[in-house]
Amino acid sequence: MTQQSANIHHRVVIMGGGSAGATVAASLLVKQPGLDVAVVDPSDTHYYQPAFTLVGGGTYELGKTHRLQRDVLPEQATWLQAAVTGFDPENNRLTLDDGRILGYEALVVAPGIKLDWDRVKGLGETLGKNGVCSNYSPQTVTYTWECLKNFRGGNAIFTQPPPPLKCAGAPQKIAYLTADHLRRQGLRENSTLKFYNGGGALFSVPEFVPPLERVAHRHGVEILLSHDLVEVDGERKVAIFETKNGEGERTRLEQPFDMLHVTPHQCAPDVIRESALADSAGWVEVDKATTQHVRYANVFSLGDASSLPTSKTAAAVRKQAPVTVKNLLAHLEGREPSAYYDGYTSCPLVTAYGKVMIAEFIYDGVVTPTLPLDPFKESRFYWVVKKHLLPPFYWNKMLKGKEPDIAHKPLKKAS
Ligand code: FAD
Repeated sequence: MTQQSANIHHRVVIMGGGSAGATVAASLLVKQPGLDVAVVDPSDTHYYQPAFTLVGGGTYELGKTHRLQRDVLPEQATWLQAAVTGFDPENNRLTLDDGRILGYEALVVAPGIKLDWDRVKGLGETLGKNGVCSNYSPQTVTYTWECLKNFRGGNAIFTQPPPPLKCAGAPQKIAYLTADHLRRQGLRENSTLKFYNGGGALFSVPEFVPPLERVAHRHGVEILLSHDLVEVDGERKVAIFETKNGEGERTRLEQPFDMLHVTPHQCAPDVIRESALADSAGWVEVDKATTQHVRYANVFSLGDASSLPTSKTAAAVRKQAPVTVKNLLAHLEGREPSAYYDGYTSCPLVTAYGKVMIAEFIYDGVVTPTLPLDPFKESRFYWVVKKHLLPPFYWNKMLKGKEPDIAHKPLKKAS
């Protein structure tokens, strides 16, 4: 094979200009103005995805969730509007979809997670019509609110795939908003709400399960675990689930619906899975504390595409980014990584209009609230945080690399 030399080179290259890539780019340039940083991302739009839940619930405008990529990325960074199609970490090079070869001294890999809509038979054909909606895409999220507004009673179904998924609370949040909306419209009595979860638990941290079960119970949302959506027949308005018994035998269950909110199956992006950077599950294989690649010392990864064993959220990125930045700069100066990520992540669980329970935790599911408030209680204050404080914090602080380090502490257990 002939070796192609890089026809462009930047000292630091960041794959992906989403929450993780844009934050790291900004923070690197705040810490080291003049550093040669390039961000590779084909998308000209940057989305604040955490607000999609509120858009689907009709309480936030889609227009406020996105900005032009060129306005989000730091001015001093070079934006290469292209997709990475291949990695050559032995030679510190990437291939772009326009044929260019891009060389680097250090690489940050942050292309997010793949939404695998095709895993469910018939979903692609019916998504966005026949009452089939999803908050997981800016193309389909406004249809969720249309479905809610037009719902006049009947069966509303909500699905969650087995892990992995980003913001594992989002599939539930829209179920609770729907129940609350129907109650306010006086339509709750003639509606059945069911939440089908392909995984075996309502939430990954056991301590949050009982309070969430109480929320579901209050709203009359029936929870069915280990039920995986495998097919949607949009014309007949039927969802088909597969469930396994103790012996591993599969059973199919047909469920008619009037409204179906689908959370798609998710997995590592193909370009990562097929590369030398991947672990056996397809994620970028990094050290869980330093975010440095386990085989290539000049490669770092954070966010949804990384192997960091925590819940995939923008809140996790907020705590991962300063660690990545510090360790990457140390690497460029020939020093060992000295910053450590503790697995912090956070999921504001919207439980009704005006109510949020905030799940903050670190590795091993240790609950670590930022504020001295009961994390298992729904709160109006956290709704204000979710709807009004976090979006400007995201755009004006996190994406500008200016975020103060806000401490979180393990919850003191009542003795
Ligand atoms: P992304 O922000 O998705 O960015 C990935 C970027 O990589 C994109 O810009 C993409 O164009 C680019 N890219 C992809 N492929 C390539 C390629 N081949 N080459 C170059 N670039 C590429 N998080 C919270 O903290 N709180 C919440 O309440 C919350 N709620 C959510 C609700 C919903 C409905 C959804 C969908 C997400 C929610 N999240 C929430 C999750 C959060 O948005 C993600 O975890 C976060 O955006 C991950 O950041 P990332 O940079 O890894 O990926």
